[in-house]
Amino acid sequence: MGSMHTGLEEAEGGFERLAKFYADRAAGDVALIVTGGIAPNLAGSVGPGAAKLTTKEEAEKHKVVTEAVHKEGGKICLQILHTGRYGYHMDIVAPSPIQAPINRIKPKEITEEGINQTIQDYVNCALLSKEAGYDGVEVMGSEGYLINQFLVTHTNKRTDDWGGSYENRMRFPIAIVKGIREAVGKDFIIIYRLSMLDLVDEGSTYEEVELLAKEIEKAGATLINTGIGWHEARIPTIATMVPRGGFSWVTKKLMGKVNIPLITVNRINTPHKAEQILADQHADMVSMARPFLADADIVKKSKELNFNEINTCIGCNQACLDHTFELKLCSCLVNPRACHETEFVIKKSANSKKIGIVGAGPAGLACAITAAEIGHEVHLFEAQNQIGGQFNLAKEIPGKEEFEETIRYYYNQIEKFGVNLYLGNKVDKAFLKEGNFDEIVISTGVTPRIPNIPGIDHDKVIIYDQLLRKEKFAGKKVAIIGAGGIGFDVSEYLLEENPKPSLNIPVFMNEWGVDMKYADRGALKAPHESQSPRELYLCKRSPGKHGKTLGKTTGWIHRMSLKNKKVNMLSSVEYVKIDDAGLHLKSNDQNQVLDVDHIIVCAGQLSRTNLYDELLADGMKPNLIGGAHEAKELDAKRAISQGTKLAISFN
Ligand code: FAD
Ligand code: NAP
Ligand code: SF4
Repeated sequence: MGSMHTGLEEAEGGFERLAKFYADRAAGDVALIVTGGIAPNLAGSVGPGAAKLTTKEEAEKHKVVTEAVHKEGGKICLQILHTGRYGYHMDIVAPSPIQAPINRIKPKEITEEGINQTIQDYVNCALLSKEAGYDGVEVMGSEGYLINQFLVTHTNKRTDDWGGSYENRMRFPIAIVKGIREAVGKDFIIIYRLSMLDLVDEGSTYEEVELLAKEIEKAGATLINTGIGWHEARIPTIATMVPRGGFSWVTKKLMGKVNIPLITVNRINTPHKAEQILADQHADMVSMARPFLADADIVKKSKELNFNEINTCIGCNQACLDHTFELKLCSCLVNPRACHETEFVIKKSANSKKIGIVGAGPAGLACAITAAEIGHEVHLFEAQNQIGGQFNLAKEIPGKEEFEETIRYYYNQIEKFGVNLYLGNKVDKAFLKEGNFDEIVISTGVTPRIPNIPGIDHDKVIIYDQLLRKEKFAGKKVAIIGAGGIGFDVSEYLLEENPKPSLNIPVFMNEWGVDMKYADRGALKAPHESQSPRELYLCKRSPGKHGKTLGKTTGWIHRMSLKNKKVNMLSSVEYVKIDDAGLHLKSNDQNQVLDVDHIIVCAGQLSRTNLYDELLADGMKPNLIGGAHEAKELDAKRAISQGTKLAISFN
């Protein structure tokens, strides 16, 4: 299980909660866990108050974690992470005083004395880890953190013994690994996370990567793990549009070049993908991180061949990485219990209730399977002939194919826990009254907002759900009204390429400018200029740049993707009318007609509450969740979390 900073490291009562989080994964049969990054000194910490391991008192607090994991038969390594110029505080240091493009703070140049002390701090941190009961450490040497900053001339302009030639630049990580090995003895695991692909200008060459791997082995590492892309790289490396296992080819290049096992990572989210990577000899071991947020038991279920029971990570980043960058506790969109294991406790109810749930979108589904697991008699009614609600539209978007996995998971859980499912069943008030339910849950979702623009009934107008359900088709020139999440997604849908980059590794690498031949430093090349199949106008009324409401760690990818595909982004527009000539706009007091074949409406959504209102008016007390409860800023994270919490409250 790969390293993930959860936020529990700094939270109140965090060590006990971390202990439960890791112990659940160890109980789920994971072979080796790596913790989130912990700083070896103050300068190396992520921000003020962030986790560090520098004293015996701090080591003492970790014992609850290591003991809990060992009790479940697992092994756990602590990741030592020095952020260098990526830290968010005023004392950050780097080999040279060069500010990172993703940080407002400029680092100070670390002195020679500071370098020697930092190496000592890594060693001290490893010794304290051993004292705290860890089975080993992982030295974080990738993603653009301090060690990476020493390795490449992009960030290391020093003229002393730590800069200049590659031999000098790689002295820092080698000294760290050597120092740790000498201090901890031979049986302690040392994983070195090696940046095999920097994806930045002036990054490492492949030859340098190979040389470093050999030196790290000599220095005493037990395992070499793969790192892909610095945080400042402008190429997606783990988001959902990256093909599954998209970067294992990089690890493969190093196979046979060292004698210690190599671990590969990034977008490996199913046991089948992991098996295929091992069978293809791309690596000796596979590391997954986010899939363990989505499902603590992914390994156990795989061993038992219960693949359909796995709650698969869909790569959305919405509750994990986005939360980390928003300084919130990490969790998981498809599994809101992740990192909240001590709060959301699923235990059998002594008081089984009859529960009627209307709407099998993510909110109703989460509620239904949790309530059934607790032991309630659950009846789930869905108007459509399939479950999933809007996820059936989301999965049509290129790069969101993974959303299908969530629907598959819910079908399986419905069967496993005996939820009574009624498809093609649009229920009304009379039906629910006759049902004698102890609890009624309304999870009827949303309807698209239809803006009040003259001509909105014109034949050229298509609502986004009609388009994604393939009830209507768009021509070559299209205007989109609304540039929220769905406006962006619909743009991607209309610009779909064949083969899809999200399903084809070479096509993806070509599209984003990753050179699989690794001819130049950082493995970069010019991104492929795609021929847009359509002329698109993505319009919004508000001023400013598009995509501000998109996810923190994925918004830039969507913006870049549409920019590369030459989508016309129009802000501050006033919609005047729609007629045979197209969409009439006013922008900065200028009238304009977009001569388009079709206008797609993606202007937000409204709660579907008529059934709820009728029940209330009749004196009943139904529960309301998901989009039906609140359409504004609704996402599946909120819908699933609300459904799960409500079901637990029925206990
Ligand atoms: P819905 O999914 O709308 O489900 C409601 C269900 O109730 C429907 O199946 C409907 O048929 C049923 N129903 C309604 N009335 C009745 C009745 N009377 N009787 C029986 N059944 C009834 N969210 C994200 O978090 N991340 C994303 O990346 C993302 N991408 C998206 C992309 C697209 C193209 C779309 C359309 C949505 C996307 N969303 C995304 C939004 C996400 O899908 C919604 O937030 C989520 O589906 C809301 O869940 P819900 O259960 O409240 O409602
Ligand atoms: P949204 O994000 O709220 O965007 C709605 C858009 O419609 C806005 O750009 C708004 O922009 C415009 N609009 C609102 N009222 C309008 C009106 N009366 N006339 C014309 N334009 C109007 O909603 P959404 O795109 O429908 O997405 C729904 C939810 O699904 C979102 O909350 C989102 O979280 C979720 N989702 C998430 C993702 C993701 O990748 N994370 C993807 C898809 C959907 P202006 O006011 O500027 O015109
Ligand atoms: Fe995976 Fe999304 Fe869950 Fe993160 S929030 S673990 S990306 S499913």
